[in-house]
Amino acid sequence: MKVFQKGFNYSQDGPGNRLVFHLQGCNMRCPWCANPEGFERDGVLMTDERWLSPQLCPHGAAEGTGLNRALCKDCTGKECISHKSKGIYASCQDLAPKDVIEEALSAQMMYYDGGGVTFTGGECTLQFDELQTVLQTLKERGIHTAIESNGTHPGLQKLFPFVDCLILDCKLIDGEKHREILGISNELILRNIRRAAETHPCVHVRVPLVGGVNNGEKEIKELLAFFRSLPRDHTSFEVLKYHEYGKNKWRQCGLDYKMDEKAKVTAEEVRAFWQRIKDAGLQYRRT
Ligand code: SF4
Repeated sequence: MKVFQKGFNYSQDGPGNRLVFHLQGCNMRCPWCANPEGFERDGVLMTDERWLSPQLCPHGAAEGTGLNRALCKDCTGKECISHKSKGIYASCQDLAPKDVIEEALSAQMMYYDGGGVTFTGGECTLQFDELQTVLQTLKERGIHTAIESNGTHPGLQKLFPFVDCLILDCKLIDGEKHREILGISNELILRNIRRAAETHPCVHVRVPLVGGVNNGEKEIKELLAFFRSLPRDHTSFEVLKYHEYGKNKWRQCGLDYKMDEKAKVTAEEVRAFWQRIKDAGLQYRRT
């Protein structure tokens, strides 16, 4: 499995203290993404200009403050990685599913307060078969499992028996706008959220609130109408405030961060949205 980040967090991606694996590859391109190093399925070369030096590349791609990525594209040697330098490094590492399982099992003592293991991304379901294997084994071994997904995989339902907590993102209801901003249709996402709410015992739907994208009255009304139409017994909701924590990583991946001041939302806007969710009789849960 290709993993670009792993570590513990408390209650952010499922209940309790959790070991969180970020799997490489995503089929969406949210322009505000906090983990752009997770976009490409095969990973990306990342740079840190404080440590970048021409000696790291025998082909002359490491010049100035960045990489000449046109040269890197056809480079088969990838000698830069062998230096294990902070100047140029690969975004992800390869781990066999059995290694992921072993690591997750060996950390069991850490899963306090109802914690366990979460797979996120990128989009974790792009590595579907391996993900299924790992989830199934962990579940059989009594570990609490969670995934955080954009909900686009047509076979998402197959994972339900092996996932204790299902976290799904929901950004926009307007299909055209969704495709225009995120580069992909939301039809399957909305169907998967509905299916999850109907059949899964623990679903948490998250909305990242982004200025100019989904903080308008029309967009919020559409989201609320969709949420209200879902079975509500086992489904909770959360609104996340747009942030720029990943901005620097865009540059490190050789990408342009295009969000600007207009994307910022106020704490009051976020509060007003979650109050409307509560007023609609839906469960609001902060993570
Ligand atoms: S991928 Fe190849 S061309 Fe690019 S920095 Fe590494 S060694 Fe140089």
